[in-house]
Amino acid sequence: MAPTSTIRHATPPEGLGAPREISYLRVSVTDRCNLRCAYCMPEDQVFFDRSDLLTFEEIVATARVLVEHGVRKIRLTGGEPLVRRDLSKLVAMLKRLPGPPQVAMTTNAMLLGRQAGALRDAGLDRLNVSLDTLDPERFERMARRPGLPEALAGIDAALTAGFGRTKINTVVMGGVNDDEIGDLLDFGAERGIESRFIEFMPLTSNQYGIDAERVPLAEIRRRVEEHVGGLVARPRGSGPAETYSRRDTGGKVGIIAAISLPFCETCNRIRLTATGVLRSCLFEGGEVVIRDLVRSGKGIEPGLVDALDYLRRVKPPVHDGVGHVQMNQVGG
Ligand code: SAM
Ligand code: SF4
Repeated sequence: MAPTSTIRHATPPEGLGAPREISYLRVSVTDRCNLRCAYCMPEDQVFFDRSDLLTFEEIVATARVLVEHGVRKIRLTGGEPLVRRDLSKLVAMLKRLPGPPQVAMTTNAMLLGRQAGALRDAGLDRLNVSLDTLDPERFERMARRPGLPEALAGIDAALTAGFGRTKINTVVMGGVNDDEIGDLLDFGAERGIESRFIEFMPLTSNQYGIDAERVPLAEIRRRVEEHVGGLVARPRGSGPAETYSRRDTGGKVGIIAAISLPFCETCNRIRLTATGVLRSCLFEGGEVVIRDLVRSGKGIEPGLVDALDYLRRVKPPVHDGVGHVQMNQVGG
Protein backbone atom coordinates (compact mmCIF):
# COMPACT_ATOMS: atom_id res chain seq x y z
CA MET A 1 0.00 0.00 0.00
CA ALA A 2 1.30 3.51 -0.84
CA PRO A 3 2.29 5.55 2.24
CA THR A 4 -0.29 8.10 3.28
CA SER A 5 0.01 11.44 5.03
CA THR A 6 -0.78 11.96 8.71
CA ILE A 7 -2.84 14.84 10.07
CA ARG A 8 -1.72 16.31 13.41
CA HIS A 9 -3.25 19.01 15.58
CA ALA A 10 -2.35 20.44 19.00
CA THR A 11 -6.06 21.16 19.38
CA PRO A 12 -8.27 19.57 16.73
CA PRO A 13 -10.60 22.04 15.00
CA GLU A 14 -14.31 21.92 15.73
CA GLY A 15 -15.03 21.67 12.02
CA LEU A 16 -13.60 22.50 8.64
CA GLY A 17 -14.01 26.03 7.30
CA ALA A 18 -14.56 27.30 3.77
CA PRO A 19 -11.56 26.63 1.50
CA ARG A 20 -9.05 29.48 1.50
CA GLU A 21 -7.00 30.55 -1.49
CA ILE A 22 -3.41 29.32 -1.13
CA SER A 23 -0.97 30.87 -3.58
CA TYR A 24 2.20 31.18 -1.50
CA LEU A 25 4.42 28.37 -0.20
CA ARG A 26 7.18 28.97 2.33
CA VAL A 27 9.78 26.22 2.32
CA SER A 28 12.16 25.71 5.22
CA VAL A 29 15.13 24.00 3.58
CA THR A 30 16.96 23.35 6.86
CA ASP A 31 16.53 24.08 10.56
CA ARG A 32 20.30 24.67 10.85
CA CYS A 33 21.78 28.13 11.07
CA ASN A 34 25.12 29.89 11.38
CA LEU A 35 23.55 32.27 13.97
CA ARG A 36 21.53 31.57 17.14
CA CYS A 37 19.24 34.62 17.38
CA ALA A 38 17.82 34.62 20.90
CA TYR A 39 14.28 35.44 19.70
CA CYS A 40 14.33 32.50 17.28
CA MET A 41 15.90 29.48 18.94
CA PRO A 42 17.49 28.28 22.19
CA GLU A 43 21.26 28.51 22.57
CA ASP A 44 21.75 24.75 22.84
CA GLN A 45 19.62 23.94 19.82
CA VAL A 46 19.78 20.31 18.70
CA PHE A 47 19.19 20.14 14.96
CA PHE A 48 17.31 17.54 12.94
CA ASP A 49 19.31 14.64 11.60
CA ARG A 50 20.33 15.47 8.02
CA SER A 51 18.80 12.21 6.77
CA ASP A 52 15.41 13.50 7.93
CA LEU A 53 15.55 16.57 5.67
CA LEU A 54 13.69 16.46 2.39
CA THR A 55 16.06 16.24 -0.56
CA PHE A 56 15.92 18.90 -3.28
CA GLU A 57 14.11 16.38 -5.51
CA GLU A 58 11.50 15.78 -2.78
CA ILE A 59 11.00 19.51 -2.22
CA VAL A 60 10.58 20.08 -5.95
CA ALA A 61 8.19 17.12 -6.34
CA THR A 62 6.02 18.59 -3.56
CA ALA A 63 6.24 22.10 -4.96
CA ARG A 64 5.31 20.86 -8.44
CA VAL A 65 1.96 19.52 -7.20
CA LEU A 66 1.28 22.66 -5.17
CA VAL A 67 2.18 24.90 -8.13
CA GLU A 68 -0.20 22.90 -10.31
CA HIS A 69 -2.88 23.63 -7.69
CA GLY A 70 -2.52 27.37 -7.26
CA VAL A 71 0.84 28.22 -5.69
CA ARG A 72 2.51 31.06 -7.61
CA LYS A 73 5.18 32.16 -5.17
CA ILE A 74 7.73 30.11 -3.24
CA ARG A 75 9.97 31.53 -0.53
CA LEU A 76 13.02 29.59 0.69
CA THR A 77 13.74 30.10 4.35
CA GLY A 78 14.88 28.12 7.37
CA GLY A 79 16.96 28.04 9.59
CA GLU A 80 19.43 29.73 7.32
CA PRO A 81 18.72 28.59 3.77
CA LEU A 82 22.26 29.37 2.57
CA VAL A 83 23.88 26.84 4.93
CA ARG A 84 22.22 24.11 2.86
CA ARG A 85 24.83 23.09 0.27
CA ASP A 86 24.25 24.09 -3.37
CA LEU A 87 21.08 25.97 -2.66
CA SER A 88 21.25 27.72 -6.03
CA LYS A 89 20.62 24.29 -7.61
CA LEU A 90 17.29 24.10 -5.77
CA VAL A 91 16.43 27.61 -7.00
CA ALA A 92 17.14 26.57 -10.59
CA MET A 93 15.05 23.40 -10.18
CA LEU A 94 12.09 25.41 -8.80
CA LYS A 95 12.38 27.94 -11.62
CA ARG A 96 11.91 25.08 -14.09
CA LEU A 97 8.44 24.31 -12.68
CA PRO A 98 5.44 25.31 -14.78
CA GLY A 99 4.66 29.00 -14.54
CA PRO A 100 7.39 29.41 -13.42
CA PRO A 101 6.61 30.44 -9.85
CA GLN A 102 8.26 33.50 -8.36
CA VAL A 103 11.10 32.22 -6.14
CA ALA A 104 12.28 34.39 -3.24
CA MET A 105 14.47 33.85 -0.19
CA THR A 106 14.77 35.15 3.36
CA THR A 107 18.35 35.06 4.64
CA ASN A 108 20.60 36.51 7.33
CA ALA A 109 22.97 37.51 4.47
CA MET A 110 26.06 36.01 6.14
CA LEU A 111 26.82 33.79 3.13
CA LEU A 112 25.48 36.06 0.40
CA GLY A 113 28.93 37.48 -0.26
CA ARG A 114 29.86 34.12 -1.76
CA GLN A 115 26.50 33.05 -3.17
CA ALA A 116 24.58 36.11 -4.40
CA GLY A 117 25.84 35.83 -8.00
CA ALA A 118 25.04 32.11 -8.29
CA LEU A 119 21.57 32.68 -6.83
CA ARG A 120 20.87 35.43 -9.33
CA ASP A 121 22.12 33.25 -12.20
CA ALA A 122 19.89 30.41 -10.97
CA GLY A 123 16.87 32.71 -11.34
CA LEU A 124 16.16 33.79 -7.75
CA ASP A 125 13.71 36.69 -8.07
CA ARG A 126 13.75 38.44 -4.71
CA LEU A 127 15.66 38.59 -1.43
CA ASN A 128 14.62 39.62 2.06
CA VAL A 129 17.55 40.12 4.38
CA SER A 130 17.27 40.06 8.17
CA LEU A 131 19.33 42.72 9.94
CA ASP A 132 18.56 43.73 13.52
CA THR A 133 21.39 46.10 14.32
CA LEU A 134 24.31 48.04 12.86
CA ASP A 135 26.39 47.62 16.00
CA PRO A 136 28.81 44.66 15.90
CA GLU A 137 28.69 43.97 19.65
CA ARG A 138 24.93 44.16 19.75
CA PHE A 139 24.80 41.87 16.73
CA GLU A 140 26.83 39.32 18.65
CA ARG A 141 24.55 39.62 21.70
CA MET A 142 21.36 39.27 19.68
CA ALA A 143 22.59 36.53 17.34
CA ARG A 144 24.85 34.85 19.92
CA ARG A 145 27.50 34.77 17.19
CA PRO A 146 29.64 37.52 15.61
CA GLY A 147 29.02 38.36 11.98
CA LEU A 148 27.94 41.93 11.25
CA PRO A 149 30.75 42.57 8.70
CA GLU A 150 29.82 39.40 6.81
CA ALA A 151 26.12 40.34 6.83
CA LEU A 152 26.84 43.85 5.55
CA ALA A 153 29.15 42.49 2.84
CA GLY A 154 26.39 40.05 1.92
CA ILE A 155 23.89 42.87 1.46
CA ASP A 156 26.32 44.75 -0.78
CA ALA A 157 26.94 41.58 -2.79
CA ALA A 158 23.19 41.11 -3.26
CA LEU A 159 22.81 44.65 -4.61
CA THR A 160 25.81 44.20 -6.91
CA ALA A 161 24.36 40.92 -8.19
CA GLY A 162 21.18 42.77 -9.19
CA PHE A 163 18.76 42.05 -6.36
CA GLY A 164 17.43 45.58 -6.59
CA ARG A 165 14.13 45.17 -4.74
CA THR A 166 15.68 43.64 -1.64
CA LYS A 167 13.99 44.35 1.71
CA ILE A 168 15.59 44.49 5.12
CA ASN A 169 13.62 42.91 7.97
CA THR A 170 14.33 43.97 11.54
CA VAL A 171 12.75 42.34 14.59
CA VAL A 172 12.22 45.21 17.03
CA MET A 173 12.95 44.17 20.62
CA GLY A 174 12.16 46.60 23.43
CA GLY A 175 15.28 47.63 25.33
CA VAL A 176 17.47 45.66 22.92
CA ASN A 177 17.53 47.34 19.48
CA ASP A 178 14.50 49.66 19.42
CA ASP A 179 16.84 52.68 19.58
CA GLU A 180 18.17 51.81 16.10
CA ILE A 181 15.00 52.26 14.07
CA GLY A 182 16.27 55.60 12.67
CA ASP A 183 19.75 54.29 11.84
CA LEU A 184 18.32 51.23 10.11
CA LEU A 185 15.96 53.46 8.09
CA ASP A 186 18.94 55.55 6.97
CA PHE A 187 20.93 52.43 6.13
CA GLY A 188 18.11 51.18 3.90
CA ALA A 189 17.43 54.56 2.30
CA GLU A 190 21.09 55.04 1.38
CA ARG A 191 20.96 51.76 -0.56
CA GLY A 192 17.46 52.11 -2.03
CA ILE A 193 16.27 49.23 0.14
CA GLU A 194 12.84 49.06 1.79
CA SER A 195 13.05 48.78 5.59
CA ARG A 196 10.52 46.59 7.35
CA PHE A 197 10.13 46.34 11.10
CA ILE A 198 8.71 43.17 12.63
CA GLU A 199 6.95 42.91 15.96
CA PHE A 200 8.51 40.23 18.14
CA MET A 201 6.32 37.12 18.04
CA PRO A 202 6.21 35.22 21.31
CA LEU A 203 7.33 31.62 21.18
CA THR A 204 7.47 29.25 24.10
CA SER A 205 10.81 27.89 22.90
CA ASN A 206 13.18 30.87 22.55
CA GLN A 207 15.21 32.77 25.12
CA TYR A 208 12.43 35.25 25.86
CA GLY A 209 9.45 32.91 25.94
CA ILE A 210 6.47 35.21 25.89
CA ASP A 211 7.92 37.84 28.21
CA ALA A 212 10.04 39.98 25.88
CA GLU A 213 9.18 43.63 25.66
CA ARG A 214 7.28 43.68 22.39
CA VAL A 215 7.19 47.07 20.67
CA PRO A 216 3.71 47.23 19.17
CA LEU A 217 2.79 48.53 15.72
CA ALA A 218 1.65 51.98 16.90
CA GLU A 219 4.91 52.58 18.77
CA ILE A 220 7.07 51.39 15.86
CA ARG A 221 5.13 53.69 13.57
CA ARG A 222 5.53 56.60 15.98
CA ARG A 223 9.30 56.10 16.07
CA VAL A 224 9.56 55.79 12.30
CA GLU A 225 7.52 58.98 11.88
CA GLU A 226 9.69 60.79 14.39
CA HIS A 227 12.68 59.98 12.19
CA VAL A 228 11.26 60.58 8.72
CA GLY A 229 8.78 63.36 9.48
CA GLY A 230 5.57 61.46 8.76
CA LEU A 231 4.22 58.43 6.92
CA VAL A 232 1.30 58.02 4.53
CA ALA A 233 -0.46 54.64 4.72
CA ARG A 234 -0.55 52.72 1.43
CA PRO A 235 -3.34 50.32 0.44
CA ARG A 236 -3.09 46.97 2.21
CA GLY A 237 -1.79 44.23 -0.13
CA SER A 238 -2.00 40.48 0.40
CA GLY A 239 1.36 40.44 2.23
CA PRO A 240 1.82 40.56 5.98
CA ALA A 241 3.14 44.14 6.16
CA GLU A 242 1.34 47.39 6.76
CA THR A 243 3.06 49.58 4.20
CA TYR A 244 3.65 53.32 4.20
CA SER A 245 5.32 56.00 2.08
CA ARG A 246 7.75 58.36 3.76
CA ARG A 247 6.64 61.98 3.53
CA ASP A 248 10.23 63.13 3.09
CA THR A 249 11.50 60.86 0.30
CA GLY A 250 8.43 58.89 -0.81
CA GLY A 251 10.37 55.67 0.03
CA LYS A 252 8.46 52.64 1.21
CA VAL A 253 8.50 51.40 4.83
CA GLY A 254 6.76 48.27 6.14
CA ILE A 255 5.66 47.14 9.59
CA ILE A 256 4.76 43.49 10.16
CA ALA A 257 2.54 43.37 13.20
CA ALA A 258 1.33 39.80 13.45
CA ILE A 259 0.37 40.31 17.10
CA SER A 260 -1.11 43.86 17.20
CA LEU A 261 -2.84 43.46 13.86
CA PRO A 262 -3.14 39.82 12.75
CA PHE A 263 -3.41 39.48 8.98
CA CYS A 264 -4.87 35.96 9.18
CA GLU A 265 -7.96 36.86 7.17
CA THR A 266 -5.90 37.63 4.07
CA CYS A 267 -3.17 35.05 4.68
CA ASN A 268 -2.66 33.01 1.51
CA ARG A 269 0.33 30.92 2.61
CA ILE A 270 1.18 27.45 3.79
CA ARG A 271 4.53 26.15 4.99
CA LEU A 272 6.63 23.12 4.22
CA THR A 273 9.07 22.26 7.01
CA ALA A 274 12.52 20.85 6.35
CA THR A 275 11.40 17.40 7.49
CA GLY A 276 8.34 17.26 5.24
CA VAL A 277 5.43 18.61 7.24
CA LEU A 278 2.91 20.93 5.57
CA ARG A 279 1.51 23.48 8.04
CA SER A 280 -1.39 25.87 7.66
CA CYS A 281 -0.02 28.53 10.03
CA LEU A 282 3.14 29.78 11.74
CA PHE A 283 1.31 29.40 15.02
CA GLU A 284 -1.08 26.48 15.62
CA GLY A 285 -3.35 25.52 12.76
CA GLY A 286 -2.93 21.88 11.99
CA GLU A 287 -0.31 20.11 9.94
CA VAL A 288 -0.03 17.19 7.60
CA VAL A 289 3.08 14.99 7.65
CA ILE A 290 3.80 14.24 4.00
CA ARG A 291 7.38 13.00 4.23
CA ASP A 292 6.73 9.27 3.85
CA LEU A 293 4.29 9.94 1.05
CA VAL A 294 6.74 12.15 -0.86
CA ARG A 295 9.67 9.85 -0.07
CA SER A 296 7.80 6.88 -1.54
CA GLY A 297 7.89 8.74 -4.88
CA LYS A 298 4.75 6.89 -5.94
CA GLY A 299 1.45 8.53 -6.84
CA ILE A 300 2.08 11.49 -4.56
CA GLU A 301 -0.32 13.89 -6.28
CA PRO A 302 -3.65 12.66 -4.84
CA GLY A 303 -2.25 12.60 -1.28
CA LEU A 304 -0.74 16.07 -1.62
CA VAL A 305 -3.92 17.49 -3.12
CA ASP A 306 -5.87 16.05 -0.16
CA ALA A 307 -3.34 17.61 2.23
CA LEU A 308 -3.64 20.99 0.49
CA ASP A 309 -7.41 20.81 0.52
CA TYR A 310 -7.39 19.98 4.23
CA LEU A 311 -5.00 22.83 5.09
CA ARG A 312 -7.10 25.28 3.08
CA ARG A 313 -10.01 24.45 5.37
CA VAL A 314 -8.28 24.33 8.75
CA LYS A 315 -6.38 27.60 8.41
CA PRO A 316 -7.39 29.41 11.59
CA PRO A 317 -9.56 32.55 11.25
CA VAL A 318 -7.12 34.19 13.67
CA HIS A 319 -3.96 32.84 15.32
CA ASP A 320 -3.69 32.23 19.05
CA GLY A 321 -0.78 34.63 19.56
CA VAL A 322 1.89 32.26 20.90
CA GLY A 323 3.98 29.88 18.82
CA HIS A 324 4.94 26.51 20.21
CA VAL A 325 7.29 25.50 17.41
CA GLN A 326 10.62 27.23 16.97
CA MET A 327 10.89 29.73 14.13
CA ASN A 328 13.92 27.98 12.62
CA GLN A 329 11.96 24.74 12.45
CA VAL A 330 8.74 26.09 11.03
CA GLY A 331 10.37 28.49 8.55
CA GLY A 332 9.61 31.90 10.03
N1 SAM B 1 17.73 32.70 8.78
C1 SAM B 1 16.96 33.48 7.91
C2 SAM B 1 16.80 34.89 8.44
O1 SAM B 1 17.04 35.11 9.63
O2 SAM B 1 16.44 35.75 7.66
C3 SAM B 1 15.60 32.91 7.59
C4 SAM B 1 14.85 32.22 8.70
S1 SAM B 1 14.31 33.29 10.02
C5 SAM B 1 13.47 32.16 11.07
C6 SAM B 1 13.03 34.22 9.18
C7 SAM B 1 12.59 35.48 9.85
O3 SAM B 1 11.96 35.17 11.09
C8 SAM B 1 13.73 36.45 10.17
O4 SAM B 1 13.44 37.71 9.60
C9 SAM B 1 13.71 36.53 11.66
O5 SAM B 1 14.12 37.78 12.11
C10 SAM B 1 12.25 36.23 11.98
N2 SAM B 1 12.00 35.78 13.34
C11 SAM B 1 12.56 34.74 14.00
N3 SAM B 1 12.06 34.63 15.25
C12 SAM B 1 11.15 35.63 15.40
C13 SAM B 1 10.28 36.05 16.45
N4 SAM B 1 10.25 35.43 17.62
N5 SAM B 1 9.48 37.11 16.23
C14 SAM B 1 9.48 37.76 15.02
N6 SAM B 1 10.27 37.40 13.99
C15 SAM B 1 11.10 36.36 14.17
FE1 SF4 C 1 19.14 31.82 12.23
FE2 SF4 C 1 17.33 33.33 11.04
FE3 SF4 C 1 16.76 32.11 13.38
FE4 SF4 C 1 18.53 34.11 13.35
S1 SF4 C 1 16.34 34.25 12.81
S2 SF4 C 1 18.78 32.11 14.37
S3 SF4 C 1 19.48 33.88 11.39
S4 SF4 C 1 17.14 31.13 11.47
